[in-house]
Amino acid sequence: MMREIPFFFLVIFAAVLVNSVSLADDTLTPQQPLLDADGTTLLDAGNRFELGFFTPNDSSYRYVGIWFYNISPRTVVWVANRRSPLPDLSGRLSLTTNGTLLLTSDNSTTVFWSSSDGSTPVRNPVAQLLDNGNFVVREEAEPNGYVAWQSYDHPTDTILPGMRFGRNMTSGLNLNLTAWTSLSDPTPGDYVLNINMDGVPEEFLWHGTRPLWRSGQWNGRYLSGAPEMETENLVQYHYKVAPQQFIYTYTIRDNSLPARITLISSGVVQLLIWVEDNQQWSVRGYTPQDPCDSVSACSINAICIPNGSPMCKCLTGFRPKNPTNWNLIRDWSGGCVRSTHLDCRNRTDGFFNQDSLKLPESSSAVMRTSLTPAECSSLCLNDCNCTAYASAQVNGSGCILWTSDLTDIRFFFGGTGQDLYVRLAAADLIAAYAESRPSNQRRVAVIVAVTLAASFLLAGAAFCIWRWKTKKSFVGEETEEKDLDLPLFDLGTIVNSTVNFSADSKIGEGGFGPVYKGRLTEGQEVAVKRLSKTSTQGVNEFKNEVRLIAKLQHRNLVRLLGCCVEAGERMLIYEYLSNGSLDKLLFDKAKSGQLDWKLRYNIIIGIARGLLYLHHDSRFIIIHRDLKASNILLDKDMNPKISDFGMARIFNGDETIAKTKNVVGTYGYMSPEYIKNGKFSIKSDIFSFGVLILEIISGKKNTEFSTSDQHLNLLDYIWRLWRNDKASESIDETIGLSFSMEEVMRCINIGLLCVQERCDDRPNITSILLMLGSDKTLIPEPRQPGFVSRDLCEGNSTSIMQYTCSNQASITILEAR
Ligand code: ATP
Repeated sequence: MMREIPFFFLVIFAAVLVNSVSLADDTLTPQQPLLDADGTTLLDAGNRFELGFFTPNDSSYRYVGIWFYNISPRTVVWVANRRSPLPDLSGRLSLTTNGTLLLTSDNSTTVFWSSSDGSTPVRNPVAQLLDNGNFVVREEAEPNGYVAWQSYDHPTDTILPGMRFGRNMTSGLNLNLTAWTSLSDPTPGDYVLNINMDGVPEEFLWHGTRPLWRSGQWNGRYLSGAPEMETENLVQYHYKVAPQQFIYTYTIRDNSLPARITLISSGVVQLLIWVEDNQQWSVRGYTPQDPCDSVSACSINAICIPNGSPMCKCLTGFRPKNPTNWNLIRDWSGGCVRSTHLDCRNRTDGFFNQDSLKLPESSSAVMRTSLTPAECSSLCLNDCNCTAYASAQVNGSGCILWTSDLTDIRFFFGGTGQDLYVRLAAADLIAAYAESRPSNQRRVAVIVAVTLAASFLLAGAAFCIWRWKTKKSFVGEETEEKDLDLPLFDLGTIVNSTVNFSADSKIGEGGFGPVYKGRLTEGQEVAVKRLSKTSTQGVNEFKNEVRLIAKLQHRNLVRLLGCCVEAGERMLIYEYLSNGSLDKLLFDKAKSGQLDWKLRYNIIIGIARGLLYLHHDSRFIIIHRDLKASNILLDKDMNPKISDFGMARIFNGDETIAKTKNVVGTYGYMSPEYIKNGKFSIKSDIFSFGVLILEIISGKKNTEFSTSDQHLNLLDYIWRLWRNDKASESIDETIGLSFSMEEVMRCINIGLLCVQERCDDRPNITSILLMLGSDKTLIPEPRQPGFVSRDLCEGNSTSIMQYTCSNQASITILEAR
């Protein structure tokens, strides 16, 4: 349904129209300044870009900028006075007689911005807005002559096609991007994209002083970290890489398509193309995309395998520095160390080729452009500090040599990526070759290894048979859990850690049974979920949870450390999250004040990232089926982690929807099609996520309204407010004063999109993450939410309720806690 445009919006719209009367001219002269009060703008000859004064949404300041002409909402690509906004409409952009652009205020002599640094004096200057979005100062009589100053040399957060980006140490050119602080504030924010010229140059994304992402080296065909560049058919990249420079531009094959690369305020670099049919920017590519894009994902001497289980693997010839942390709690921060020390002096070291990789970080590496691979290998072998080498170009020419630990390496599936030759000691080389390909030449080594291994195996087998027998006497019918491929904890360890399941150690109780806090002897805190012996439903959930979560790992999923199946007990041991579950803070008015908007927003983003992993990025498609506030746990820094995979289901690659008679979930979070027809899909999780978003913003449980005459539930309440342009009234009063209304409204809009009645209308999690970081005006209007009235169902009110719902067989619904 269309919403009516309120009168005051019409007034603003009229004001905006008045304010953007174009000069229909592309040139500024010393005699004809641009006055904000006149509402005039410059328009390039091709009618593609406009230059003038503007106010970002939700801001009251005025800026001079360049934006795409005729694209709505206004998409700004360059800002002159990012740091010094004008407080009112008194701005004046003028060109001095020697060719300096000056932004002043008519009321004062204050200079808000000038192009003086970097411009060369011009005798008869004009400033012209070109049809590629470049604003240039030049001699009036020389349209194609010398350019004294150009906006292209002072990028803000956007690179346009044809614009240069990068660095030239000889000329001093340094073209970076710095994100806006927020959508309403162009002031330089914390995220910066630049080129690091140390060692072998690479592009880096920074958050303050912390590197987040690295492009990899240019290898003649693509950046080592982005092999997909080779097959990109819409965009062409042009790199100029020499010892003192690293500069690139890009062009769009269809030059008429508006396009941009923008570092958005949430720290993501996006390549966007304007789609005329949808009147929307479409994200063609973005980075960082997955955990392996993080420069510190696996620490040193390890390879990050996207969607791998485990995600981090030591380079061949290396082992985890701290095996307990590495294997048990998947803490990769210690990285890997050599299995055997190098023996450079006796010249017994060699190289093992690890293929399909993004080459390691190279700020202390050395590039030799003219060497062949053989020369490169011998140069590395003769230098006892050299740890690895690789060809600098994919055609085999040139050479990069590393002399330090190797960091930020990722694996690429599908045969793309580059070869890295890692120096190993002879013993590790033999082992590595034996493992990878026992060829004729190496048969002798393999035979020796096999003979030695056989004697160990015999001893090992005897030990395993003994251990299996002893275990069987304890666990009896539970032996099948042995196949679960997860560390087994002894019952004794768990009993000690929870002080014999004392009441003091108990931290909660779920449908599964009680949950205890425990402390292992090494001091590590854990949460122990103890399956009640009486719960038969729980046994299946237990097995499901172990099988599933053992294969998953992501910073927004709670980490399962192991399980314990002994003496009739079944327990799951998790990392302990000291801030407990979200519901305990959110729905308690005495505590919800601890959750200011920044934290709530961070929680929404974190849950979305966890869902992205489940729905798209892990090896399988996983539908959680019980997403709710009590299943979101918060760590010590209040980062959210999705927990409780007892009801989750794995989908095969081509399966997108399933049907069940056994409808399980929690009332208030289940989608209408799931309740009514037993149909579930990723869109039923999206529905639950929408409910969660609206609960996080309002601090109210969805079901809280069920008894009210006026509103069916929270969704109905917020939906009605939204339609009357009063959605801001739904914001939790304990949220604090400092929040961006635009951000909150964007989240309400997204929450309402997620709970729409038709599952096809609901966005997928990728779009949700993109919408969370984009302008509100790019987000579609929601349609009517799907309401599930409790009246549909009848049942008692124990914690697990057997409901019979209309039009439906018997279904099980867990009451929201
Ligand atoms: P249901 O089983 O119906 O989904 P639930 O999600 O509340 O309900 P559990 O997952 O068993 O049930 O958790 C019960 C409570 O124990 C949680 O609400 C939380 O407060 C606490 N808890 C569970 N796991 C952890 C953990 N890893 N760290 C800290 N607290 C935890």
